[in-house]
Amino acid sequence: MRVLITGGYGFIGSHVADRYFKEGYDVFILDDLSTGNKEHIKFKHKSYIVSVEDKKCEEIFRSYHFDVVIHLAAQVSVMKSILDPKRDTEINAVGLVNILSLSHKYKVGKFIFASSAAVYGANEQLPLQETNRCNPISPYGMSKWLGESYCEKWRELYSYESVVFRFSNVYGPRQGNTGEGGVISTFLERITEGKYLDIYGDGEQTRDFIYVGDVADAIYRTSNSNLSGIYNLSTNSEISINELVGLMEELHGETEVAYTAAKEGDIQRSSLSNEKVVNDLDWSPMFSMKRGLEQTYEWIKDKKTKQTSEKTVTSSKKAPSLFKQFQPYIENVLVFSVIAWLTLANQVSVLNIVDFALFYILIIGVIYGNRQSIIAVCLSIGLLIFEKILEGRELISLTYDTSFLLQVALFLSIGLIVGYSIERKNNLLKEQKSKLEEHEDRYSFLSDMHAEMREVKKELQLRVLNTGDGLGKIHYLLKELDTLDPERIYLNSIDVLQKMMKVKKVSIYKFSNDNASYKLVADSGSFKSSATLKVEDDYVQQIANKKSIFVNKTLLPNAPLMAACLSNGEEKIALITIDDLEFEHISLYHENLFKIITELIEAALVRALHFQSLSEQEHFLAQSPVLKESVFQKILQTKREAYTKFQIPYLLLEGMINEETFIHDVTEISKEIDETDYIGESNEHHLLVLLANTSKQAGEQLVSRLSEKGIVLKLVEGEL
Ligand code: NAD
Repeated sequence: MRVLITGGYGFIGSHVADRYFKEGYDVFILDDLSTGNKEHIKFKHKSYIVSVEDKKCEEIFRSYHFDVVIHLAAQVSVMKSILDPKRDTEINAVGLVNILSLSHKYKVGKFIFASSAAVYGANEQLPLQETNRCNPISPYGMSKWLGESYCEKWRELYSYESVVFRFSNVYGPRQGNTGEGGVISTFLERITEGKYLDIYGDGEQTRDFIYVGDVADAIYRTSNSNLSGIYNLSTNSEISINELVGLMEELHGETEVAYTAAKEGDIQRSSLSNEKVVNDLDWSPMFSMKRGLEQTYEWIKDKKTKQTSEKTVTSSKKAPSLFKQFQPYIENVLVFSVIAWLTLANQVSVLNIVDFALFYILIIGVIYGNRQSIIAVCLSIGLLIFEKILEGRELISLTYDTSFLLQVALFLSIGLIVGYSIERKNNLLKEQKSKLEEHEDRYSFLSDMHAEMREVKKELQLRVLNTGDGLGKIHYLLKELDTLDPERIYLNSIDVLQKMMKVKKVSIYKFSNDNASYKLVADSGSFKSSATLKVEDDYVQQIANKKSIFVNKTLLPNAPLMAACLSNGEEKIALITIDDLEFEHISLYHENLFKIITELIEAALVRALHFQSLSEQEHFLAQSPVLKESVFQKILQTKREAYTKFQIPYLLLEGMINEETFIHDVTEISKEIDETDYIGESNEHHLLVLLANTSKQAGEQLVSRLSEKGIVLKLVEGEL
């Protein structure tokens, strides 16, 4: 799979590139390096240093087919867009049109465009939804909005789908100080340098900061989804600059802050709703502000330490490197001076000069290679000529002196052969050294990957263990639900869900006969669940309409964390809710586990309710809603167990049966009680009423209401 990332050497682009590389993609980067840095990318990739609006971009698309194109390259400074709106438009609008139309022309599978919260301008309907009005206040916001419109037009005109992400303020390692989220990197840089922080205005202005790792994650997941259209990409939260400084102080210690006049046109509050992307994509931000800041702070500290050590190394290296540059020349001239001195001082004969010169050329060639050996050859020829002239020879006569010409040829051939062969050897060594370095880089990258894989493996092992555990529990679950008594299934389901999902707060609601609500039939008792859920409530509708599991990813207020609606075909039966779940358990694995368990409970309930409907006549006293003694006792026993296990309250009322008024009494009682309550007969032929999930106070009120109608009942069991 191939991904092309424009602006891949930039802050966000490099994180996106890292993610795709780790996922096994071949990464291609198109960047003009105006604000990007090649050092950000440490792995093997294809690089094109060209501007996004350049015609040459087509060559890249013509040469390779890309599965995904992520368009991040942009002029990112709001200030520059005001000073030079033409250039801003060229890069951000013309550049986008170029890459978008090439992606369409060369049939790229997925086109993702980075837009910005700047398209909304000063809109105060927070958190901003994708449907809110756009009214950018800077040319930067305008060019991004224009880019979005092009993506929309391509969808309309050519049915070419794309995903537009409106990022809120992104922050994290590798960020420069110029972009939109730059305040965090600027502040952290200043803090680590011991400088004070400049805050414009009173510091109460808010922003929605999102960690770059979460942005890269969303982009990657998008390429494997069928997402299309415009989406906010944010944390859906606000943090004021003062609060941000507070968090930084927690990391670094107290810092001096100076408040200056607010910037003109600065937005006071900013927050983007991420509901749409959380719902449509299997994604939600994983980094809290605190964790993201820690990562960024560590990166900035590391960068500073590296910069200081590099400075010391380069300053200590500067003097010797200049000497090193000229060292071969100096040594060459020194050796030649010795040879020349020996010759001119008549210390050696002419024949010996040739020997010495050859030796000198050979040594210099072996040590320094080609360039110095040629210099040595020239110097030696010069010395030989000088020596001949001293002997009284005419310069011109040397041109037909065969022994002289032979000597010159000897110098030249020895110099060139030795020089070139040594040069070749040196080049080969250099090449091997750089290959070695490359391998070392790759090795360290692979060992990082290996460490990461080990982490993943550990996680997988844990999951496998959990699954093993789960298999044992599924067996237990099947046994627990192997009953034809719906009341027992409700009760056992609570137990099963608590154990398997490792949660404490579980409730089960039965769909009421009037189709207007769900009535609580059982809960884990450790917290106060609502007795009734109204069908028209927004989140109840969401749960009931969802074919599979409901997960409260958007943190809807008052709604449970996970829920499932149980039904028999189109007929709704019950609703299961979980109100607590450890953060790390909000995962696909737990979602699937919950789905399996609820499906098993649903199957057991459907079976039990079917059986109940078939045997209904056998359960009741003739023509009445009064349960026979044996059936009533079974239900009472379940309620007693539920009380012992989960402290689910129940009340038992008892009264005498008056044969004459029996039908009237039972009808009146039925009107007063809930459909989760029961009327029955005791073995002493007394009338019993079993109230589920009822407090003593509510029970007493019922007793007094019934006594006004002439029906005498008293509380005999339960929480009295
Ligand atoms: P960045 O400056 O770090 O990265 C931009 C990259 O694009 C750089 O590598 C730069 O060299 C390259 N580039 C610029 N002009 C180019 C051109 N004409 N041709 C080719 N390459 C070019 O900025 P960033 O923060 O990583 O932003 C990436 C994208 O996200 C941008 O489109 C930006 O508008 C958008 N965005 C960022 C933020 C944020 O908070 N950082 C918020 C909203 C939107």
